[in-house]
Amino acid sequence: NGNLLEIQNLKTYYPIKGGFFKRTVGNVKAVDDVSFTIGKGETLGLVGESGCGKSTTGRTILRLLSPTSGKIIFDGKDITNLSGKDLRLARKDFQMVFQDPYASLNPKQMVGDIVSEPIRNFSNKSLKDLKDEVMSLLKRVGLPEDAYYKYPHEFSGGQRQRIGIARALALKPKLIIADEPVSALDVSVQSQVLNLLKELQDEFDLTFLFIAHDLSVVKHMSDRIGVMYLGNLVELADKDSLYSEPLHPYTQALISAIPEPDPRKRKERIVLQGDVPSPANPPTGCPFHTRCPVAKEECSKVKPTLKEVKPGHQVACILYN
Ligand code: SF4
Ligand code: MG
Repeated sequence: NGNLLEIQNLKTYYPIKGGFFKRTVGNVKAVDDVSFTIGKGETLGLVGESGCGKSTTGRTILRLLSPTSGKIIFDGKDITNLSGKDLRLARKDFQMVFQDPYASLNPKQMVGDIVSEPIRNFSNKSLKDLKDEVMSLLKRVGLPEDAYYKYPHEFSGGQRQRIGIARALALKPKLIIADEPVSALDVSVQSQVLNLLKELQDEFDLTFLFIAHDLSVVKHMSDRIGVMYLGNLVELADKDSLYSEPLHPYTQALISAIPEPDPRKRKERIVLQGDVPSPANPPTGCPFHTRCPVAKEECSKVKPTLKEVKPGHQVACILYN
């Protein structure tokens, strides 16, 4: 089995509290029955508009959130219900790179301490070994030598993200979940950070779950891509088939909105009407039916499941049944 990660029917619901007694009056269905796998060394991209559940999916896999139901199998081991020491140990192997590097770095800690903290938590290396290791990590991610003794505020946004990446690498993890890792950065530094992540992937044998709303960023980074809408995975395919032949009407709309510099290749942009419904009160049937330009009557009644319609290309839409 070449899969590093297997997600089966994952649901993550948040309770909504209301009324005088703060009783649970409903659920936000942030992730609603999502299944996928990621092969060793592969990058799976997850795209969708904000609020579609892609970050919640990532956080649930890392077990920063507890799943409501479903299974998370990591490297052959079921980690769905781990807690305490077992969870802490399992976490060595998966790390997160966050969207806002500044918010995720303690401003009062020296960079050397930030990056060495995960190592200190898991080993009792000598101070010298620890320092050598951190120095070489800092150098590898492209930070200056004296970064070790500086504080996060002394760095630019791109450099802070490099600090976050060094920290994520410190324990030599197998999986990195990168949640919008460049969307807070200037466009000019975005590709530098993306290319760094790609180089590190080869060097450190990393597997990536790469979460972003920007389809060109995801295309640059991913082998396969999953498209999420309202807590559901609506399409999953190889990068090339997804971009050249998107099947789901939602994916088609997303892809039609990517700017095409070549006027001969430009296609008509599909503009979706209305807003994304609330995940606290999702529509019946297909979650996309309230905005789908080709919806049929039955779309509001039956919820389509993800089906493989061509080798490696899965879609959840009745048009392909
Ligand atoms: Fe549109 Fe119906 Fe397909 Fe949903 S199932 S995407 S509403 S055609
Ligand atoms: Mg998000």
